[in-house]
Amino acid sequence: MPKTESASIASALAEARRRLAAADIASAGLEARLLVGHLLGMDSAAMIAHGDRALAPGQIQAIRELVRERASGRPIAYLLGQREFWSLPLRVDEGCLIPRPETELLVERALQRLPHGAARVIDLGTGSGAIILALLAERPQLEAWGSDASADALAVAAGNAKRLGRSVHWFRGRWLEAVAPRPLLDVIVSNPPYIDPLDPHLEHGDLRFEPRAALVAGDGGLADLATIAEQSRARLYPQGWLLLEHGYDQAPAVRALLTRHGFLEVTSHRDPAGHERITEGRCPG
Ligand code: GLN
Repeated sequence: MPKTESASIASALAEARRRLAAADIASAGLEARLLVGHLLGMDSAAMIAHGDRALAPGQIQAIRELVRERASGRPIAYLLGQREFWSLPLRVDEGCLIPRPETELLVERALQRLPHGAARVIDLGTGSGAIILALLAERPQLEAWGSDASADALAVAAGNAKRLGRSVHWFRGRWLEAVAPRPLLDVIVSNPPYIDPLDPHLEHGDLRFEPRAALVAGDGGLADLATIAEQSRARLYPQGWLLLEHGYDQAPAVRALLTRHGFLEVTSHRDPAGHERITEGRCPG
């Protein structure tokens, strides 16, 4: 039998911080507050104000379990079931990629390229729906489509759209395969899998816990980028834009792919870390 323990909110926070720091979690104090606050349904200010409040043994156990999961490497976004993207609180789970801050550059670029007024846009490999929901947050009048090969991911995306009060046409399938060839689209965006299956980064950090299918692609990571470039030409209006996220060293290869498929004004853009992360091109016409 575990001995009966008493702990206050303050002591639970201190213990969580110690255990996370011991597991080399960089922001141990912040993550301790997030995890304990998540279980207690309290924000940081409330936890400080009520620091000497006693916790029930069940609460102490639940906090320890969650902290143990985090210390073993499970991403905090999955443990909290939430990640903010473009200031939107998105639900996430193990069935979808955790949205990344650098993907906000893809949203910024797509907003530059979307015609004002009625426009039609699709997000291929939508995952949590992060990109299409960010675009809709800025342009509520968009006709928005999203596709994903994973039913689990589409369920997460559809739930996020519902909570945010947005309407998106969802398609299950690889890239544009399940999407009717007409009507044509003004903009196609995608943050597809682009990691080489042999990349050692896959064995580190959050990547270990994310769906492999959302991360890796054949041909050194370029296979899905190539398929999307190939499928997109015939689906865009003349003057429509394709915008792709890719790996930090893939920009020259992606520019070559877009050029090979006849795209014009092919340009790459740097993320805040200085890596060429987004490549876009315009359909002729
Ligand atoms: N579009 C989603 C995102 O950017 C998912 C991307 C993916 O699963 N590769 O977060």
